[in-house]
Amino acid sequence: MNAPFQPAAIPVAALADAPADAPAHGRERKMPLTVLIAAPRGFCAGVDRAIEIVERAIERYGAPVYVRHEIVHNRFVVDTLKAKGAVFVEELDCVPDGAPVIFSAHGVPKSVPAEAIRRELDWLDATCPLVSKVHRQAERQIEAGRHIVFIGHAGHPEVIGTFGQVPEGAMTLVETVADVAKLDLPADLPLAFLTQTTLSVDDTHQIIAALRERFPQIVGPKAEDICYATSNRQAAVKKVAPGSDLVLVIGAPNSSNSMRLVEVAERCGTPARLVQRGADIDPAWLEGVSTLGLTAGASAPEQLVREVLDTLGEWREVEEHTIITAEEKMVFKLPRQLVD
Ligand code: SF4
Repeated sequence: MNAPFQPAAIPVAALADAPADAPAHGRERKMPLTVLIAAPRGFCAGVDRAIEIVERAIERYGAPVYVRHEIVHNRFVVDTLKAKGAVFVEELDCVPDGAPVIFSAHGVPKSVPAEAIRRELDWLDATCPLVSKVHRQAERQIEAGRHIVFIGHAGHPEVIGTFGQVPEGAMTLVETVADVAKLDLPADLPLAFLTQTTLSVDDTHQIIAALRERFPQIVGPKAEDICYATSNRQAAVKKVAPGSDLVLVIGAPNSSNSMRLVEVAERCGTPARLVQRGADIDPAWLEGVSTLGLTAGASAPEQLVREVLDTLGEWREVEEHTIITAEEKMVFKLPRQLVD
């Protein structure tokens, strides 16, 4: 386990024992709060690209531009794009003939672009290239005659999109090690495994180990398909959480990678809470907290990190420390329709 972070000397440490409302030099003094800010955090290259696709499409085609599903799992992002002229819909049926439509970063089943082509819609695919890579791997494994065991979360749009790349019945979902024990597949069936991109790194290693033990013939990618952004954010939380009394994760409840960050912090023995923005923080959570870890899921913008820090600053004298565990330089190309 990583050594807990030791904050630098806190100039106002002497205030720690003072009541929160103790007057000092005629002004109210706040209790100090050291905030360890994880880096990397927040937007990944796939989310940056998806948002840029919507913004550029609005510039190019004019509003409204339709987006099938939340472009990324973040209400703040969705509302900001709505204000610029994006209209979010659940299915293509809700897109009028002739209107441009964008598919979300999580990827879509093959039937969706097929329907867009049939209706002669102008469509753009904001599927993250790392999700598309899993789609191609799925196709290749089916071509090689293998049944696929897919490690992921039932009902997540990425899982629905990946299942939609292969014929029905060609892929079986497992979510846990217990699911592996329950798999009802012939012992000698040619098998491959693939994974959702936003899983817990530690849980996934255990599930893959259980699959390899039960089905020694199973093949899989050299490294599992958990993306660089998910792995990096989990590693950063592992560094920050052990030295914190509480970890706040900024993200949406339907954001898989954000929920995994909460779990990772809790497994380090630190209580953790998911907040969507500053207004969600209950000041009672800060009782007895002198060091707070802070991170953000891959679909949460940096403005929300600032907002949370400002909210904390209303109650406490915040001292920020950024804990860097990796540098990210990944950038994905835009679809060719938007580059000229
Ligand atoms: Fe792509 Fe990973 Fe970001 Fe998902 S979290 S959009 S897979 S980079």
